[in-house]
Amino acid sequence: MEVPVKHAKSILSFTQEDINRFWSKVAIGDSNECWEFRAGKDYDGYGIFYAQRTSWRSNRIVVALTLRRDLGKDKQACHKCDNPSCCNPNHIYEGSDLDNKRDATERQHYSQAQYKRAAEHPETYLRGEDVHLAKLTEAEVLAIRKFWSEGYTIRSIQRLIPRVCWETVSSVVKNKTWKHLL
Ligand SMILES: [Zn+2]
Repeated sequence: MEVPVKHAKSILSFTQEDINRFWSKVAIGDSNECWEFRAGKDYDGYGIFYAQRTSWRSNRIVVALTLRRDLGKDKQACHKCDNPSCCNPNHIYEGSDLDNKRDATERQHYSQAQYKRAAEHPETYLRGEDVHLAKLTEAEVLAIRKFWSEGYTIRSIQRLIPRVCWETVSSVVKNKTWKHLL
């Protein structure tokens, strides 16, 4: 006789108290900001939350709570923002491994084009360092975009320049700041 396979626990088994406890660990911000998970994280930077005698990754919890169901088989909770500890439901979606890779490739192609333009038009490099309180040097901005174009994550780039925060690096690669260096 076959032994029935035990189903993996469902995030839907969370009590309201578990859910409240989860959100209490999230730095909830504006709808377009990253909401950092403030408690324990795993080796890859994902938030780890313990409930129902199981540990869960924060991004999977967010997707399951948003969709009101568990993630589909072979599906992942993918971050649009490339910030593993982010818990903003607007930044996380249920996708396949393929979606994840396609997103990463698109990001890479886009940034390569931007960096090429920066390299070809050095005369547009002026300004940024003159801005009062600029946190990055122009060389750093170019380095950040170069690392990004080569596929490094924002987190790993930020570790190289620890005096600036994740958001600063994110704004540079998303071309929200230092636009004149594009
Ligand atoms: Zn985010």
